[in-house]
Amino acid sequence: MNYGKKSPQLWAAIENEEQRQQDTIELIASENIVSDAVREAQGSVLTNKYAEGYPNKRYYGGCEFIDQVEQLAIDYAKKLFNAAYVNVQPHSGSQANMAVYQALLKPGDVILGMGMDAGGHLTHGATVNFSGKLYKTYGYGLNPDTEELDYDEIMDLAKKVKPQLIVAGASAYSRIIDWQAFRNIADEVGAYLMVDMAHIAGLVATGVHPSPLPIADVVTTTTHKTLRGPRGGMILSKSTELGRKINSAVFPGIQGGPLEHIIAGKAQAFYEDLQPEYSEYIQQVVKNAQTMEKVFNASKQIRVVSGKTENHLLVLDLTKTGLTGKDAQNLLDRVHITTNKEAIPNDPRSPFITSGLRIGTPAITSRGFKEEDAQRVAELISTVLTNPTDKERLQEVAKGVHELTTKYPIN
Ligand code: PLP
Repeated sequence: MNYGKKSPQLWAAIENEEQRQQDTIELIASENIVSDAVREAQGSVLTNKYAEGYPNKRYYGGCEFIDQVEQLAIDYAKKLFNAAYVNVQPHSGSQANMAVYQALLKPGDVILGMGMDAGGHLTHGATVNFSGKLYKTYGYGLNPDTEELDYDEIMDLAKKVKPQLIVAGASAYSRIIDWQAFRNIADEVGAYLMVDMAHIAGLVATGVHPSPLPIADVVTTTTHKTLRGPRGGMILSKSTELGRKINSAVFPGIQGGPLEHIIAGKAQAFYEDLQPEYSEYIQQVVKNAQTMEKVFNASKQIRVVSGKTENHLLVLDLTKTGLTGKDAQNLLDRVHITTNKEAIPNDPRSPFITSGLRIGTPAITSRGFKEEDAQRVAELISTVLTNPTDKERLQEVAKGVHELTTKYPIN
C-alpha cells in the first residue's frame, strides 16, 4: 500500500531545508517565518476540496465549511485594512496584479509603473513579464540626487505617456511612498491608481506606513511577506464598485479552483495580524532595519541607498567595497547569511550581477532579534564585505552567525 508512503529523497530535502532555515540568518526582505498554526492550516484537509466560485456561489457541492473559511479570511482582511472589498483567491502577488490589469485594461493599454532597475516588480511592466508583453509599459525611476521617488518627474512622464493605469509600490524601496501624490498624478491624466503594497502590507496594517486604501482605486498585496501568512496574493479596495469586475477577472478570468487550504492559512495569518502583539512585531521590524542602517551609514565603504530606511528593508550600494552584488550574496551565503543582490539606482552592472544588496528584517524579527542583535548582524555583514578574502575573519563571522541562530531557534 503506497498511499502515503513517504519519498525518502523528498523528506530528506525538506528536513535539510528546515535545518538550513534554523542555521541561517535570513535577510531576504520578501521572506518571513510563519507560525505553526499557519502551516497547519495549509496542510489541512482543505487541500482536498474544489470550490470554484465565491462564498455561497460555488460550482461544486459540499462547500458549506469552505465558505466559512473563505469568508473569515475576507472579513479579517477587511478589518485589518479597513477595506470594503477583498478577494483572497489570487494564488500569488503576480496573479493579483494580473487580475487587476485584466479587470481594468484592454491589451495594448498603457501602464506606468516603477522600473525594475529602480526597485519596481516584474509585474509592473517588465518586458520579460506578461505585463510588458500584453500592455504598453513605461517605467519611472528615482531622482538621481535624492534616490527617492520624484513626483514631479512622474507627473511629467504620465502626461507624456498617458497611462490608463498607474502602479505605485515597490520591491526594493526603503522610503515612505506618498500615495496622495500618485493620486494627483492619476487624476491629472485620467488613469486608475493601483497600489501594490506587497512588501509593506504589514506596516500598512499596523499604521506604521500610511494606508493606500482610502486613496487608490485598488490595492494588491502578497500575503507571505510582512503579513507573515502563506505564499499567496490578495486584492482589496475601499469600495465595492470594481468588485464584480475584479472577481470575474480572478475566476474564471485567470484562475480555476481556489487554494482553500492556503486561504485558510491567510485567514489564520490575518487573525494573528489583528492581535496587539503583531503591531509590536512590525514596530520591531522597523527598529531593527533602522539599527542596521546606522551601522552601515557609519561604514566608509558601504552606502545606504537614499541614506535611510523608513520600512523593513535597506538597499546597500557596495561600489566602494569593490564587490558586485553577486559576489556579496555568495560571500554571505558562505557564512550562512542569506540576502539577495539588488540593482542600485543607475546601476552600471546587469541585473544578474548588480552593485547592490537588499536586506530586510521581517524574518529575523519573527525569530526574536532585537536592536542589539540587528546591530551585531550588520557588523557581521560589514566585516564580510570589507574583508572578503580574510578566511579567519570569515570564520569568526560564521561563529557569530551560529551564536545568533542558536540564541533564537525557530520554534
Ligand atoms: N509585487 C511586489 C511589489 C513584489 O515585491 C512581489 C514579489 O516579490 C510581487 C508583487 C509578486 O509576488 P509573487 O512572487 O507572489 O508572485
